[in-house]
Amino acid sequence: MAKQKGITRFTCDRCNTVEYLPEGDPHIDEWREIQHITADGTQNTRLLCKSCHPTWHTFAIQQDNEFNQFMLQKDRDKEDKTNDR
Ligand SMILES: [Zn+2]
Repeated sequence: MAKQKGITRFTCDRCNTVEYLPEGDPHIDEWREIQHITADGTQNTRLLCKSCHPTWHTFAIQQDNEFNQFMLQKDRDKEDKTNDR
């Protein structure tokens, strides 16, 4: 078919990879929209390709772990301040 309608252009917000996919193409599922909330509470949405998404996922897990550690370290902050003197 020389002419095909219903094609979506996907562009990775991280590496700028571009892919043109027709509606219903199974490769559409490889593109992932992710959410990120900045320190000042702004929510950003980004589109990532199949190469960048796993890297982001590893990064997000690391951030979750750091956040969870932060939430558990209430008492350690007091100790650290005492040790800084
Ligand atoms: Zn990418």
